[in-house]
Amino acid sequence: MLDEMRYTQIGQASIHPIHRLSCHCGGVVIELHLPNGVENPRRCNCSICRRRGAICSSVPLADLKILQGQALLTLYQFNTRTAKHYFCKVCGIYTHHQRRSDPGVYAYNVGCLEGVNPFELGEVPISDGVHHVSDRL
Ligand SMILES: [Zn+2]
Repeated sequence: MLDEMRYTQIGQASIHPIHRLSCHCGGVVIELHLPNGVENPRRCNCSICRRRGAICSSVPLADLKILQGQALLTLYQFNTRTAKHYFCKVCGIYTHHQRRSDPGVYAYNVGCLEGVNPFELGEVPISDGVHHVSDRL
């Protein structure tokens, strides 16, 4: 089990209870409800996460609202096609995905949070996505 970790401050950045996330070109703007800050940020070694290299955290589905750029978000699915991975079709940046292991939450790209430098998180735990919980008997 990973240790439970919460970040309400990351370097110079305070995480607001309502915090915005945006893609690189600024076309996609998403509002997140983060009353407890950034909870349990992690990296993952699965086939898609190891390629994109993003640090993720999760929120309940109702706590993520797309404010702008719905039409720019492109859906990518693979394997069991359970998880829904979204990225901006203009700049290619991954913003969030609906998780396969817990479809009740969205994982979001911590590096897209406005004002946040994810390198200031220090060491981030790695979750074992190669051996996915949904693939275990
Ligand atoms: Zn973009």
